[in-house]
Amino acid sequence: DLTEPDAGSDLQAVMLKATPDEENGCWRLNGVKRFITNGDGDIALVLARSEEGTKDGRGLSMFIYDKNDGGVTVRRIENKMGIKGSPTCELVFKNAKAELCGSRKLGLIKYVMALMNGARLGIAAQSVGVSEAAYREALDYARDRRQFGKAIIEFPAVYEMLSVMKAKLDASRSLLYETTRFVDMYKTYEDIARERSLTPDERTEMKKYSRLADAFTPMAKGMGSEYCNQNAYDSVQVHGGSGFMKDYACERIYRDARITSIYEGTTQLQVVAAIRHVTTGTYLNQIRAYENENIAEAYLPLKDELVKLTDIYAAAVEKVTSAKDSEYLDFMARRLVEMAGNIIMSYLLILDASRNEEFDASARVYNNIAKAEIAKHAEFINNFTPSEINVYKKA
Ligand SMILES: Cc1cc2nc3c(=O)[nH]c(=O)nc-3n(C[C@H](O)[C@H](O)[C@H](O)COP(=O)(O)OP(=O)(O)OC[C@H]3O[C@@H](n4cnc5c(N)ncnc54)[C@H](O)[C@@H]3O)c2cc1C
Repeated sequence: DLTEPDAGSDLQAVMLKATPDEENGCWRLNGVKRFITNGDGDIALVLARSEEGTKDGRGLSMFIYDKNDGGVTVRRIENKMGIKGSPTCELVFKNAKAELCGSRKLGLIKYVMALMNGARLGIAAQSVGVSEAAYREALDYARDRRQFGKAIIEFPAVYEMLSVMKAKLDASRSLLYETTRFVDMYKTYEDIARERSLTPDERTEMKKYSRLADAFTPMAKGMGSEYCNQNAYDSVQVHGGSGFMKDYACERIYRDARITSIYEGTTQLQVVAAIRHVTTGTYLNQIRAYENENIAEAYLPLKDELVKLTDIYAAAVEKVTSAKDSEYLDFMARRLVEMAGNIIMSYLLILDASRNEEFDASARVYNNIAKAEIAKHAEFINNFTPSEINVYKKA
């Protein structure tokens, strides 16, 4: 339970108050939380302000409560666009009994950050699942539906849509798996470190994977959820008028997809988390590492394209960062993160295809998508001067 009416993306603004109840050896929570998934459940973790007079994240701690102790009521269950099977609740806390979880003042800066990374990975996986469902529905429909005397899948406009959907789906799944691999690696080292001290080499490896997990998690969530939405949109499109009807699953998938780019941090907030890995070179270093991996000969021409795209990306990063203007960097951040993401996903698909020819088409289609996207972003960045931001502000 993190979100409040005035604290959404900005969790430092959380105001729900936690006061020590020394007589009963517990804490008391007072305030309101909103948009809480399964907020009607018995046990919950709550982020609350334990340090009176503070205004930022350092005054927040994590608490655990049991609804059976009383003091928490569900004031409202939201009437949502999608994911209707999951109740989203507004909760009112009135002197609710709670226990401190972990150490005081580490609620946001340590625990929420750790929880969020896990949850973002979860939503990245949810996005891949919804994307897969959208693709399957579209594929089945396109094979069955006939117009002008043939199955609609035979029209270039339709099979192009389907192959792009499949490429985005495979790309986001590959990025998800790569991210989970990085998470597994550093967590394994953490586990080993509990039993014995790590060697200097192991410590270096742990840091490397931890940094990569930190860089890839917001990318997998941000880009995966946007692809999921794009695939849900195209799934409806492949269905034509039928896609607008509740009789077809794609109508629900379209609505269910929408939340993936909003909760556990909007796409914009994923970019806020990812941009430092553009400026510090985490993505670029990893891209260079992929260059040296075992790529099958058939894909070497695609790899050559990616090496060129990497130079374009690096030049765009240099152009934006050399201005040393944080507003200009924020303005271009999404483009830069997406450029890195396009290159990374294209490499991952080429590596997948090198191991298994099942991914051949997606590797080739996605490479074309990456080229077109990077050209578009580079064009925008190269033709833009920081002072032009004022035009956007005025608009
Ligand atoms: C169905 C559902 C379930 C949810 N479940 C939970 C839950 O279980 N627990 C929980 O704690 N919360 C939950 N949430 C809350 C969810 O995490 C927030 O809605 C989300 O983080 C966005 O916060 P907000 O709605 O206040 O939007 P705002 O923060 O007001 O954002 C509005 C817009 O401003 C943009 N924006 C804001 N700040 C910045 C910035 N610094 N840079 C760039 N753009 C910015 C956002 O990207 C967005 O486009 C849920 C929400 C929904 C809809």
